[in-house]
Amino acid sequence: MRRAAAPIGLLALQGDYAAHARALAARGAATREVRTPSDLDGLAGLVLPGGESTTMLRLMDGSDLAARLVAEIAGGLPVLATCAGVILLAREVRLPPQRSLGVLDAAVERNAYGRQLDSAVVALTVRDPEGLGADTLEGVFIRAPRVTAVGDGVAVLATRGGDPVLLRQGSVLAATFHPELTPGSPVVDLFVRLVRAAG
Ligand code: GLN
Repeated sequence: MRRAAAPIGLLALQGDYAAHARALAARGAATREVRTPSDLDGLAGLVLPGGESTTMLRLMDGSDLAARLVAEIAGGLPVLATCAGVILLAREVRLPPQRSLGVLDAAVERNAYGRQLDSAVVALTVRDPEGLGADTLEGVFIRAPRVTAVGDGVAVLATRGGDPVLLRQGSVLAATFHPELTPGSPVVDLFVRLVRAAG
């Protein structure tokens, strides 16, 4: 008997994890909502969605969920972090400063592109078409953070006006925009390829 493929976990404390579930279902990938440390057992990959990073951090307090997330990601679990998810992972967070999980070697400024009303759909510059698997890319930005620095081990796959907006550090993909809101986004396709290659 064939065993069902391990699911991709969706950090489901707050934010747009349901949109990620739909994007992954469209690609035939099973998902599981993650709210407690034991929900992380046996996953094939993990999504850290957009939302409000401050709220997510607060909701992680009081359990060892944050510590378990760091351990899984450091252990090579494929990750797709979007918007607030990137803020959670970054090594340094400013404007305002905020604690973080610190597993992505990048510095970010929060809400750097203006207020909610200034959110936008933008044609991005693909810097690494081979790494992305596409040569055009759209980005839906919603109160997005700006990446102000990246470490040596971080590849910049796409930029917006010169700012890095899509990063890859090993099996971690980090988008300051919302690929789950663009039907057929090559970013979600790439994440599913990383998950299947690791599994
Ligand atoms: N501005 C939010 C934060 O600081 C991120 C916005 C988003 O995830 N769409 O957490």
